[in-house]
Amino acid sequence: MDLGIKGRTALVCAASKGLGKGCALSLAKEGVGLVITARGREALEATAAEIRRLTGVRVTAVAGDITTAEGRAAALAACPNPDILINNAGGPPPGDFRSWTREDWLKALDGNMLTPIELIKATVDGMIARKFGRIVNITSGAVKMPIPELGLSNGARTGLTGFVAGIARQTVQHNVTINGLLPGPFDTDRLRGNLAFNAQKLGKTPAELATVRAQANPAKRFGTVEEFGDACAFLCGANAGFITGQNLLMDGGAFPGTL
Ligand code: NAP
Repeated sequence: MDLGIKGRTALVCAASKGLGKGCALSLAKEGVGLVITARGREALEATAAEIRRLTGVRVTAVAGDITTAEGRAAALAACPNPDILINNAGGPPPGDFRSWTREDWLKALDGNMLTPIELIKATVDGMIARKFGRIVNITSGAVKMPIPELGLSNGARTGLTGFVAGIARQTVQHNVTINGLLPGPFDTDRLRGNLAFNAQKLGKTPAELATVRAQANPAKRFGTVEEFGDACAFLCGANAGFITGQNLLMDGGAFPGTL
């Protein structure tokens, strides 16, 4: 399926690995030129080279922490007028809310709420002027079904979702859409790290725990980054201009609601 976005430019944040990389690769397969970011330069350059080799598109790698003003400035200097913006960053740590300080909260809000809002603010008016824009925020299934030990994530990401619900209705008349993609369990380094951490606590091997967790999902498996990337590219397609302010849950059916 040709999504009609060949020749467009995307800024894909936090994209050297995992879900961000999946989005970058799926967009590149559609002929979208990329600027990708991550903190670690080596893995980022390797991903940029891999995407260039697989797709032949132009890929610029900008190393930096996207949750800092400097990181965002560097990304925007390399990509001042993106047609497509994919907001992503690492998630906050788990814990007990009684132990979280004001600084912990500000860090979570900076990373998972204010950073995407800053990047939207910096790019959305250009998209409106050019009459095309697609913004996808990678959040979490926790927006729909909170995860008890991830209170920092539940709070910050839901704040972003509420903000976007308002502005997504203001930009769509200009063919600029803003949507959320809500991952459930996807097979990434982050998921594997969490499994290793929890397996140790439960006296299991990471592989055993992975099997238990995958079997507990209605799909009997974890999602793949390719599936996630292709859903992201679909939301960025030329014909997706009537979809805005939505939150697409990708969790293999784990959320038990009718709607
Ligand atoms: P991952 O496999 O660990 O990949 C994270 C990517 O983001 C890496 O490229 C990492 O590179 C980059 N990154 C992290 N923090 C960054 C920062 N501050 N600035 C720039 N780049 C940064 O993680 P993932 O599974 O793809 O998760 C992506 C997001 O989805 C996270 O917020 C996560 O909480 C959320 N999520 C994931 C799942 C899942 O099952 N995988 C489920 C729900 C929510 P560097 O470390 O080099 O910066």
